[in-house]
Amino acid sequence: MRVVVSGGSGFLGSHLCEALVRRGDSVHCLDDFSSGRAANIAHLLHEPSFRCTPCDVTEPSRLPGRVDAVVHLASPASPSDYHRHPLPTLAAGSRGTENMLKLAAHHSARFVLASTSAVYGDATGHPQDEEHWGHVNPIGPRSVHDETKRFAETLTTAYRRDERVDTGIVRIFNTYGPRMRPYDGRVVPSFVRQALTGEPLTVFGDGSQTRSFCYVDDLIAGLPAMIDSPAPGPFNLGDPSERTVRELAELVLLLTGSTSEMRFLPLPGDDPVRRCPVVSRAREALGWQPRVPLEEGLRRTIAWFAAQSPHPVREPEPSARS
Ligand code: UDP
Repeated sequence: MRVVVSGGSGFLGSHLCEALVRRGDSVHCLDDFSSGRAANIAHLLHEPSFRCTPCDVTEPSRLPGRVDAVVHLASPASPSDYHRHPLPTLAAGSRGTENMLKLAAHHSARFVLASTSAVYGDATGHPQDEEHWGHVNPIGPRSVHDETKRFAETLTTAYRRDERVDTGIVRIFNTYGPRMRPYDGRVVPSFVRQALTGEPLTVFGDGSQTRSFCYVDDLIAGLPAMIDSPAPGPFNLGDPSERTVRELAELVLLLTGSTSEMRFLPLPGDDPVRRCPVVSRAREALGWQPRVPLEEGLRRTIAWFAAQSPHPVREPEPSARS
């Protein structure tokens, strides 16, 4: 297959490009490198079946030759990134999604939308299955991400109905692993970096809010399965073992052997209280299920972060959308 991956140099995108190249697909990565990093795909550039075009997905894209599938991942995914860049986040989810849908329509290609657990917002039911409609504050601090992904799902569904594009939607829950940026702001890279450098672990609120953390290799295995499937979804992709943020902090301290303290900071606005996916639909439709326990995934992630640099350098702020 020839697969276009928007956001292919990002955390998830680069792992997906690698998995697709490994299974024999030809991969065309599109990225504007705002939150993606060239280093994430440097090892793929010598592969004849991989190419990368710097590209802003909010501009219309035309690609020569055949395209069999388009996977749309391009979007800031970390709360601190989308707080800093609200308009580019909205553009990537709205105009960017439509441009990628048009690209898929032009080539009669399968389109896979990387949606998110954020569509459930601060969910009123628990755990979250795909029947939940979500509970999102449309003007709140997380809304640019949550609402644009909800709109992207609606747009994808309209293109399926009215333009007969073969579409699939996956809702990705919290995922972690190698290639997360140390200053990305999400909880796993923050805690791991802080533990490795002896800084206090910044626990927001009292740390009793929950998330379910999926190791990146597990998550990525669901995406080629969704490309190959004719199913529309939406399917939750995530690890259903729920942990409090405080438990995560304790585990990172244990696994790193760090003597860092925990520093409790105010909880950001609209931070979801509990989040845990029901993944039975993905298991039945895609034969997919996560396998790497949190302790093992964290060990691999810590080893990767430790190998990068003993004193990670703060990155310049991302300047535009990805
Ligand atoms: N969080 C935290 N300390 C941090 C970063 C995040 O306690 O340094 C908390 C955050 O408030 C949330 C959870 O960890 O409850 C997951 O945050 P993340 O930004 O990773 O993802 P999301 O909120 O989008 O699930």
